[in-house]
Amino acid sequence: MPRPGKAAPEIAGELAERIAAALDAGAAQQAAALSTVGRLWLSEAGPLCGDARIEGERVAPVPGEGECGIDRPVRVDRIAGVAFDPPPVLDCRLATGLAQWITATATPLFAADGAALAGLGIAGGYVCRGVNYSEEGRISEHGRGMAIDIARFERADGSTIAVLDGWGSEGGGDLLGRVHGDACGIFGTALGPGSDAFHQDHFHYDAAERRRGYCPDDYAPEEEEGG
Ligand SMILES: [Zn+2]
Repeated sequence: MPRPGKAAPEIAGELAERIAAALDAGAAQQAAALSTVGRLWLSEAGPLCGDARIEGERVAPVPGEGECGIDRPVRVDRIAGVAFDPPPVLDCRLATGLAQWITATATPLFAADGAALAGLGIAGGYVCRGVNYSEEGRISEHGRGMAIDIARFERADGSTIAVLDGWGSEGGGDLLGRVHGDACGIFGTALGPGSDAFHQDHFHYDAAERRRGYCPDDYAPEEEEGG
């Protein structure tokens, strides 16, 4: 409804100017916020996370509400030759754990099974939410860039094993079981099919420090951990 005395095109023009000004202010604020930690982080040289196996790039700090956010995030494209699809944004502590798991566990197990591991299908990286999607309680490690969900394993021969179909099946069950079982000890928490109803179609690994890791051996119906 146009205000009296002003033609519609004039109002539209004013509105566009105001929107542009607001966007400029937002961009300026972001740039200012970047001036300290972010600029230093983005200008750092050397291998990502100090680990030559990790390929990708440093990205600007992820601001998060409350406890969420990542101060020094990296976008991970590939680790030790294994592609991440889509590339997740993570904290270096998790990226380093993944490098260890891929090199020591996943890659050798897939190679021994006959076709090299070429890629991982990522179902979740950074997201600010509560544990298991609850709106109350503690923040999921996903909200700190310290957790990743892996739904799919892609092999060099072009075949794919999805956690949902492959777990417990002749095609992928045994292999996936070993790959997942051996993740423990590297990650503080390793959840998957069998841990709870939230993890039937993916493996959840997080690098949060725990006094005692939560591993496949610990899975019991009454226990609940954070995904
Ligand atoms: Zn998860």
